[in-house]
Amino acid sequence: MTEKTYHIITYGSQTIKFKLELNHRKSLKITVTPDLHVTVKAPSAQPIDIILEKVKKKAHWIIKQQTFFNSLPPPPPERRYLSGETHMYLGKQYRLKIIESAEEEVKLKGGYIYINTREKDNLEKIKTLLEKWYSEHARVKFNQRINLCYEKVKKYDIKAPLKISIKKMKKRWGSCSKKGNILLNRELIKAPSHCIDYVIIHELCHLKHYNHNNNFFKLLSQVMPDWQKRKERLEQIVL
Ligand SMILES: [Zn+2]
Repeated sequence: MTEKTYHIITYGSQTIKFKLELNHRKSLKITVTPDLHVTVKAPSAQPIDIILEKVKKKAHWIIKQQTFFNSLPPPPPERRYLSGETHMYLGKQYRLKIIESAEEEVKLKGGYIYINTREKDNLEKIKTLLEKWYSEHARVKFNQRINLCYEKVKKYDIKAPLKISIKKMKKRWGSCSKKGNILLNRELIKAPSHCIDYVIIHELCHLKHYNHNNNFFKLLSQVMPDWQKRKERLEQIVL
């Protein structure tokens, strides 16, 4: 059986509240979850003052974890695909307008993304139409930007990419293989063009310097002196 209690320790001027779970285990384990909650699991036989002492010793690490989770952007709101909901495209917010129509079509006009559909109340259908629209636009837009970006880096003796792929990813904006294949996150289509260019230039620089070493960053800064600003802007985007 697990016995659960709550405790507080202090570390400098900070307090750490944690949930203690005592059960049949051999060692003490501390976890910090992205919602900043701290759980300590300890063997039931361990005296409480020993446990508190051990947690205190890890206080610095706990606060570091909490600070890290706190610095992350908030989780994206759940998408419901209803009229009025905002969706991003090239760094701008647009409102959805769902319209019943015989023809299925997605259009960008004014501050709106119009979704014409036969099934106005079918949220899955609306989601699919919008996703398809994003993918089509990503393909066209990324190709344009890649051509422009490649023109800029050519003179640095960078090979042309072998293949460009676009895929919806959760954790990264882009990647590049040793062979020269570049993979871009489709979700980049929600970012401003200057951020898309940053990711493309970053990956193109890898075609010359595969690792993130000094030479890589030197080249990146040469090609795109303000890359850090663009990167910061990109990090503000919540997918
Ligand atoms: Zn990289």
